[in-house]
Amino acid sequence: MENVDHSEIRKFEALAARWWDPNSEFKPLHEINPLRMNYISRHVNLAGLAVLDVGCGGGILSEAMAHHGARVTAIDMAEASLSVARLHLLESKLDIDYRKCAAEDLAKEQPGRFDVITCLEMLEHVPDPSAVVRACHTLVKPGGLVFFSTINRNPKSYLFAIVGAEYVLNLLPRGTHDYEKFIRPSELAAWSREHGLTLKDQIGMGYNPLSKRYSLTKNLDVNYLACYSKETN
Ligand code: SAH
Repeated sequence: MENVDHSEIRKFEALAARWWDPNSEFKPLHEINPLRMNYISRHVNLAGLAVLDVGCGGGILSEAMAHHGARVTAIDMAEASLSVARLHLLESKLDIDYRKCAAEDLAKEQPGRFDVITCLEMLEHVPDPSAVVRACHTLVKPGGLVFFSTINRNPKSYLFAIVGAEYVLNLLPRGTHDYEKFIRPSELAAWSREHGLTLKDQIGMGYNPLSKRYSLTKNLDVNYLACYSKETN
């Protein structure tokens, strides 16, 4: 069975033209991008590595990684977003292989092909996130790294990520996130462990509504990023 929620894909397709507008619905992703790129670079030098970006959208992170010298393949199920991502390459002069493909399907085609996988802000939009975790494990080389980011599930994350971000501060369109789909760090760790990925590190991402700035923080209560590694054997 296909692990895609088509109503989610339609939401992103409807906004696709605005992926590269830093003042659009994607403003938060543009603003957190340097932070998450910095976090990834702390763990691995991407220069020359084969990297897969799962759920790449318009390519905000894919391009940042290509700027760091990674050879990037990037997949998404929203065709309109991929078209925008490909068009943006004309401006950025980068070379990225954008493909409409589910992680589970690519895993059958190219197991163990990638040094690094990123799957950021995507797991909370799929019906079965653990199947995506399993596919990432299959796709990464032994000794390689997998980065996930998503939103924790607790009363505080409901208040900040839904009420605050979508209703009070209007940072994101209403309906962007569904509380039930949020993922606790312990749940992500359990699926990862089950599929052979070991937690190396995790960090929170916080937003200060007064300074309107995002920062990395020790607090994992709302948004968080995690770095996993695949055992060598
Ligand atoms: N990772 C990007 C975009 C996050 S938005 C970034 O952080 O900048 C979530 C993305 O996941 C959207 O582009 C959406 O189309 C994609 N997505 C949702 N379900 C998916 C699925 N089953 N397979 C691949 N991509 C999916």
